[in-house]
Amino acid sequence: MDIIAKYQEIKASLGQGVRLMAVTKNHTAEEIRPLLEAGHRLFGENRVFEAIEKWQPLKEEYPDIELHMIGSLQSNKLKEALGIFSAIDSVDRESLAQKLSLEDIGGKSFLIEVNTGSEPQKGGIMPEEADDFINKCLYEYKLPIKGLMCVPPADEEASPHFAFLKTLAKRHGLKELSMGMSGDYLLAVQQGSTCVRLGTVLFGPRKS
Ligand SMILES: *Cc1c(COP(=O)(O)O)cnc(C)c1O
Repeated sequence: MDIIAKYQEIKASLGQGVRLMAVTKNHTAEEIRPLLEAGHRLFGENRVFEAIEKWQPLKEEYPDIELHMIGSLQSNKLKEALGIFSAIDSVDRESLAQKLSLEDIGGKSFLIEVNTGSEPQKGGIMPEEADDFINKCLYEYKLPIKGLMCVPPADEEASPHFAFLKTLAKRHGLKELSMGMSGDYLLAVQQGSTCVRLGTVLFGPRKS
């Protein structure tokens, strides 16, 4: 099946109110172009310099592209990140929140990433610190936080992680839930996802 047929099929399976973010890390502009031509505009990348190199030229052609940062963001790349991304979905620590609050972030929005599986190698605020961190971002740093993101452990059932994220978001009045990847996006949608992040199922396996 070609990418557009696959894309249309997935979109139809998501139903109303769930956005599809095409995750394009390790994929080239030429692989992405058919989606742009079909009118798709929401994309995710997880590295700042890869995003700049690939997306700067594409944004000149398609100025309404909405590119989100979904990877771990180093503070020393913050200015470059704010230059290329419309949103950062991986705010996950106080030092980053504090630095963001000092930048001109006009029109951008953020999600907080929660490390629901407490995996040491992964980004995201730890679950037991999440309530405090969300409050700080909202009320101390006054960041436009719209919701939460998580990447459940690869070797566990995703469902309890999605449920945790939803409960946490609800407690803080946050509406956006970025959850669900190629292997579990239909489950995530059943559990209230508002945005699924899909790479493999659209583009095929990534070459590293
Ligand atoms: C790579 C990546 C995805 C896409 O994963 P697939 O399994 O290829 O759909 C989604 N979210 C994040 C944060 C990623 O890094």
